[in-house]
This record gives sequence, structure tokens and C-alpha cells, in this order.
Amino acid sequence: MTTTTTRPRSYLVRTMGCQMNVHDSERLAGMLEAAGYVPAATDALAEERARAGDTLAEGADIVVLNTCSVRENAADRLFGNLGQLASIKRGRPGMQIAVGGCLAQHLRDGIVERAPWVDVVFGTHNLDVLPALLDRARHNAAAQVEIEEALKVFPSTLPSKRESAYAAWVSISVGCNNTCTFCIVPTLRGKERDRRPPDVLAEIEAVVAQGAIEVTLLGQNVNSYGVSFGDRGAFAKLLATAGRTPGLERLRFTSPHPAAFTDDVIAAMATTPTVMPQLHMPLQSGSDRILRAMRRSYRSQRFLGILERVRQAIPHAAITTDIIVGFPGETEEDFADTLRVVSEARFASAFTFKYSPRPGTPAADLPDQVPDDVVAERYGRLIGLQERISTEENQRQVGTTVDVLVAEGGGRKDGDTARVTGRAADNRLVHVALPAHVGPEEAPRPGDMVRAEVTHGAPFHLLADSGLRGGTFEVRRTRAGDAWQRARDGAHDHGGAAGAGGTVRLGMPRVR
Ligand code: SAM
Ligand code: SF4
Repeated sequence: MTTTTTRPRSYLVRTMGCQMNVHDSERLAGMLEAAGYVPAATDALAEERARAGDTLAEGADIVVLNTCSVRENAADRLFGNLGQLASIKRGRPGMQIAVGGCLAQHLRDGIVERAPWVDVVFGTHNLDVLPALLDRARHNAAAQVEIEEALKVFPSTLPSKRESAYAAWVSISVGCNNTCTFCIVPTLRGKERDRRPPDVLAEIEAVVAQGAIEVTLLGQNVNSYGVSFGDRGAFAKLLATAGRTPGLERLRFTSPHPAAFTDDVIAAMATTPTVMPQLHMPLQSGSDRILRAMRRSYRSQRFLGILERVRQAIPHAAITTDIIVGFPGETEEDFADTLRVVSEARFASAFTFKYSPRPGTPAADLPDQVPDDVVAERYGRLIGLQERISTEENQRQVGTTVDVLVAEGGGRKDGDTARVTGRAADNRLVHVALPAHVGPEEAPRPGDMVRAEVTHGAPFHLLADSGLRGGTFEVRRTRAGDAWQRARDGAHDHGGAAGAGGTVRLGMPRVR
């Protein structure tokens, strides 16, 4: 008698866009693994190419593209990637391609019309259907497109395969009730839906029990958390309670909105030791006229007032921001206001965007779009100014002692320079030199903590090389480092990829 064993089908999820998508991808991976798929093996070279924009599909039976529609030319890039995948699929019968995320929610059938080799299209409200759609597409030998208009299953109730053993994302809300005129998020992600605090706290406890020591709470507008269940103070209370989770060392959140940012949140940040001294506070523009046109209801003075109060309460807080250059109608005077606010705010760093019209948003139809060359010139001036400020602020860190949570594969040059890379408490990127006497057994693992002194401040990172000079260098092995090691050893035993955070299942999917 002969027995045939079928090889499990392998999958690869490629993520574009923001933390929400990164977190959604963890759920897509978790669901695929729960359905019996295994991660496709990828090598370091392929990962490198993926960072450079390649779709990295060799070897995978299922490729899922989790798309973003905020970035410029997002659709062109998607169809470029799908073109690459088409040629790979021609040589690999049975391979399936699925497209999800914001751009799928936006383009719907348009994806299979332009790329008929795509097997599955699903939206932002129905991640849960992916395994069933893949089966149905295979069975019917026809593309399956399923988009929901509203959320049916809160994504956090789905199985999840975390990317990192030591740091976890936890969603507190999805969607957004604001109507910023440049932004496509409310159209594609829908109205804000808040998760109840006990569910959020249970997930934090679950990821900490698995070894995570850092948690980042996610929402498009975390300050409006709780309005839907009648508690405007819910976010501050959640921070304080979550911060007391035994075993949790670092709590972060993103993004707050300047219009709704209240002093109870500042107080919770300042009095909860695990809430890290860091704040991402999106400015978008320093011009009050442009903020009005963007339908952002704060003004530059209020914004600067928030920063002042945060710094009074948390003197070492590193504050970062998002800024859009060239919103329709932006004059040189408006842009000068942005430069002025940026100079006064002294952000540790800024994510800067050239305005790009998103079809379907009010700003896309405004008459006075700013010419590309003008936007490019202003953009250059803004990043020049911010780079100078970031460098000065980083240089001010020289001589301070930092506790760095070591990250995985953080620095590509780390091998050559005998350094490890991670984030300081204030989320600055730090490369820490390993003294010569530290052998592989004593070297910090991803998830461990290293204490060192900052010796150099560059625009986008700090160097903490005190260990080379006989100065501060202390390694603290953590539960998270142990969890990383267990995941790596397990992956070696099974021939898979390292660094997985394990599968988190939190009850049955349900409608809320
Ligand atoms: N909820 C966050 C907030 O209120 O600031 C922002 C979420 S959005 C996904 C991330 C950033 O993308 C925004 O802060 C904004 O700076 C940028 N962005 C969004 N739409 C844009 C557009 N049409 N053009 C350029 N940048 C845009
Ligand atoms: Fe978009 Fe504004 Fe909502 Fe942020 S607050 S997601 S920018 S609509």
C-alpha cells in the first residue's frame, strides 16, 4: 500500500502602509496558519529585495498583498507588483494571489478587471473571509471579490500571528469619525468602533503572557476612544490601567489627535511609569488657514500649548509628528507658518508627506492644487529644517544613559560594527556597541535590554558606544528575550522563519 502525503501550502503576506496594516497582516497570517497554511521560507537576500519593493513571491503558494491607499501612486505600485506576480504565477500552477487592505476596499472589482490573474479581493471590514475565499476561488476556478461596507467582526478577535516576540500591537479602535479633507481613511475604514476596555486589557495580558514586554495601543484617533460607550475619560483610564499589567515594561500609543488631546491623558502618561516618554502628535500644517481647510479643528497655538504641557509634565518626552506639504491653496505665507511651528515645536523627528490627492476626498476637488515643483521645493526646505532640529536634539542626548530594547535585524551594518540596535524609552533609534569581551553567549538577544551611554547624535539615530571605552554597558536578559529565543529555536526545529510571536486567539469572532 502506498501513502501520499501532501505538502502544506505556504503563504506570504506582504504589507504596505501604516501600523494598522502591519497589525492586520498579523491577523491574516494567524488565520492562514489556523487554516493549515505554513509560512513560506524566505532568505535574507529575498527580504532585502522585498524592502526595495519586490513582491518576494518565490516559493509561496499563496501571496497576500495588504495594500495602503495613503501613499503616493499607491495604485500604480500595486499593479506593478501584480504584474511581477503574474509572471511568477505563470510558472507555478496552483499559486494564488489575494489583495486586501485599503486599496482593495477602494478599487474592488477594478483589481480583477485590470489584473484577471488575481484570485481573491477582500476589504478592510472582512479580513476574516480570506481563508474561505481562497478555498472558494480554488474550487470554483474563478476570482472571488468580497467587500463589506461596515465592520462585522472586530479584527482583534481573529487569530493573530505576531511579528515580534517582544513587542505587540493592540488595537483599541478601528475607523475614524473625523473628516479631514485630505484623508481617505474614514471612507475606507469606516466610522470609529471602540473595543471595550476589558477586551483590550485581556489582549494585553495575553500578549504579555506570551513574552511581550512592550505594547503599542493603536487607533486612528485614540483620544476619542470611549465616546461611543459614553466615557470621554476612557483613554486616560485605559492607559493607567493597562500600564499596571504585571510583566509589561513599556506602553506606547498612536495616534492621538491635537483637537481631542486632554490633560487627563498627559496626567496618566506622567504618572504611569510604564507609559514611555514619547508622543506622536500629528501637526499636518502650521497655518491656521490651512488647518481650517483641512477640517482639523485645532489651531497652531493650541498645538504648541499641548507640547508645552506635555514637556512640563514629562520633561524628557520625545515628540514626533506628521506634516503635509502643498495642501491645495497653500501659499508661501502658509508654508512659512509651518516652518515657524516646526522651529518652535522642536520635534525629535517628523514624517513628512507631499500632499497627494485621494480621489473621493473633498480636497482632491479643490481648485488651487499646488504645482509639483513648488511642493518639491517647500518639501526640501522642511526636511532640511527638521533634519537640523533632529540632529541638534539627538546631539543633546550625548552623555545621557539610555535603556535600549534590542530589536531583531535592526541594523544592517550591525554585524560589521559589532553593534546591536533597538529603541530607547523615548523611541529614539539607538545603535549600541558591544565591548570586545562580550561573547555570543552574553550578547543581548532581541527582546533583551541594554543600558549604555549615548556617545553620538546623528539626524536619525544615536550611537551608544560607552561599552567600548570601559563605560556603562549592562545587559538585562528579559522574558521577551527568552520568548524570542524559544521562537527561534522552535523555528529552527521546524525549518521555518524566526522571530514569530506565537498565535494569539482571543475568543470567537463576533459582531459588536
Ligand atoms: N489618524 C492620523 C491623524 O489624525 O493624524 C493619521 C493617519 S494617516 C493614515 C497618516 C498620515 O498620512 C497623516 O497624518 C498625514 O500626514 C498623511 N496623509 C494622509 N492623507 C494624505 C494625503 N492625501 N496626502 C499626503 N499625506 C497624507
Ligand atoms: Fe484621517 Fe483625520 Fe481621521 Fe486621522 S483624524 S484618520 S487624518 S480623518
